[in-house]
Amino acid sequence: MAQETERVKAGRTFDSAYGFSFSIAVGLALFIAGLVISLTLGQGTNIGLIFGIPLLVAGLIIPIFMMRDLFKTNEVSAPCPNCGATIRTSDATLQLKCTSCERVINVREGQFVLGD
Ligand SMILES: [Zn+2]
Repeated sequence: MAQETERVKAGRTFDSAYGFSFSIAVGLALFIAGLVISLTLGQGTNIGLIFGIPLLVAGLIIPIFMMRDLFKTNEVSAPCPNCGATIRTSDATLQLKCTSCERVINVREGQFVLGD
């Protein structure tokens, strides 16, 4: 049971780290593309700025949206499997203690399972 918890935790950390790097890379690529277009096409005209500035802005905003999804968690609300008291937590929580009976409860895919 302890190994299972460890594996889930490692998977989640890897996904977050990967998603974080990916959103930074996408933002950076758009930002550089926007900068290059603004500087190369923009000489003497506004055409470069018209195409370049939206790319620059997208490069800054897209990573923020991607990271917001990454850290978004769903709320879990279910009765304690031991005493029946309603427990509220997020699905990012792997283990918690019931506030009523103080039993350790594991959170598995939005379901509460009685721990050791
Ligand atoms: Zn309880």
